[in-house]
Amino acid sequence: FERFRKGLQKSRNALADKLAGIFRGRKLDESVFEDMEEAFIAADMGVETALELVDRVRVAARKRRIENADDLPDVMVDVMRDMLDIGSSEMNLQPEGPTLVLVVGVNGAGKTTTIGKLAHYYQGQGKKVLLAAGDTFRAAAIEQLLAWGNRVGVDVVRHSQGADPAAVVYDAIAAGKARGVDIIICDTAGRLQNKSHLMAELAKIRKVVSKEMPGAPHEVLLVLDGTTGQNGLMQAKVFKEVVDVTGIVITKLDGTAKGGIVLPIVHEQGIPVKWIGLGEGVEDLQPFDATAYAEAVCR
Ligand code: GDP
Repeated sequence: FERFRKGLQKSRNALADKLAGIFRGRKLDESVFEDMEEAFIAADMGVETALELVDRVRVAARKRRIENADDLPDVMVDVMRDMLDIGSSEMNLQPEGPTLVLVVGVNGAGKTTTIGKLAHYYQGQGKKVLLAAGDTFRAAAIEQLLAWGNRVGVDVVRHSQGADPAAVVYDAIAAGKARGVDIIICDTAGRLQNKSHLMAELAKIRKVVSKEMPGAPHEVLLVLDGTTGQNGLMQAKVFKEVVDVTGIVITKLDGTAKGGIVLPIVHEQGIPVKWIGLGEGVEDLQPFDATAYAEAVCR
């Protein structure tokens, strides 16, 4: 919880402090709600979600007969937590045999870093992890994943640049089964500029995966850069059209005052946030906790 608060400090300073300033010593009337709305929009919640949030807070405040604006943060935390509660933030881990996780997202979003952190996280839980360098388009992507593999002490299945990503994933599944691995995490290319190509590539990977491991992939995690604001929302929309995203990872929330982006992604795209990135270090990935998040940005 403390890590959450600390990691979200910039967003907290921007939103919670602003709200506290708006509420201080005021009687609760419509002008308070108007100011609130503005603060939410400035924190990158988007107009639709900001309006919905304010509407819900208004209704809840009335129901609780709140008269002073200073009492609103409690209401806000509850409302925000409800809006974020759209399904489990837990990872769908398979008790028997490997769990296969596909990681998608545009280049630069923090995919490789997130994969490294995830590998470290699960290793720390005593699980055996294998990585697959499925972004064969960029040599640097393969190198970078290898570097993370070395850093956290996890094997990386790789082919050379330009190889078929589906073949890399095929090999990773074979190796994972043979070695009794618990979790296989596959990187993928993130060229959103060429949507049909991306779609074909991910479809081919999926085909191989479901043939070799019925029921897989067990998770498709979309990595979004939390500092890109509304652009991240657009990416979520596009990726959702291309592949069945089961969870979102929002990275770089330590570096932005606009941490409000979490809410519209969940609310408008209907996909649960499962992890958030709060730094560049190997430990800086936290399972998403709606209560801790709402508490951190609201008060
Ligand atoms: P990829 O192209 O999607 O694989 O992106 P990378 O994993 O290479 O990350 C791009 C940059 O973002 C790197 O400099 C990472 O160190 C940085 N980065 C990734 N996640 C986070 C995070 O949660 N916080 C911060 N501050 N930086 C991050």
